[in-house]
Amino acid sequence: MNSLVCCFCTQSISGDAAVEIAAPLEDGGVQALWAHGACLGARVHPSIPTLLPSTPERSPVAFLAITEQGLATALRLAEGGPVWCGVDAISERSFEDLSGNLTRFSYSLRGGSSEVVSGAVATIQEHHPGMQVWAECEDGL
Ligand SMILES: [Zn+2]
Repeated sequence: MNSLVCCFCTQSISGDAAVEIAAPLEDGGVQALWAHGACLGARVHPSIPTLLPSTPERSPVAFLAITEQGLATALRLAEGGPVWCGVDAISERSFEDLSGNLTRFSYSLRGGSSEVVSGAVATIQEHHPGMQVWAECEDGL
């Protein structure tokens, strides 16, 4: 029996992990493609509900927010991924109300020197090895 090949990653798939994608052709035939459930799931837009196996992390990015506005944006973009912020980007109370992915530094990053910001980035990288860190840039820098 021929082994199936995933049309996204080109690795072979064993039968029970395979998802068939059937595309009707003009002549009445069908082009069948096969994929790993996770490979397809990783490419389906997050707003489309699927029952596919949970997907590997799509975008390995950690965010560093400096201002309140930056934090709001970062939390939206991170979609549950790690977000870090300075102490004055969010009040103690709001921080306690937020669950999960936000970490708050004990010091302010606002108006800080580039060493302060790069020190914060280094700390984030220590906690999330291999992740890219996206840091907010304050106005006027
Ligand atoms: Zn695959």
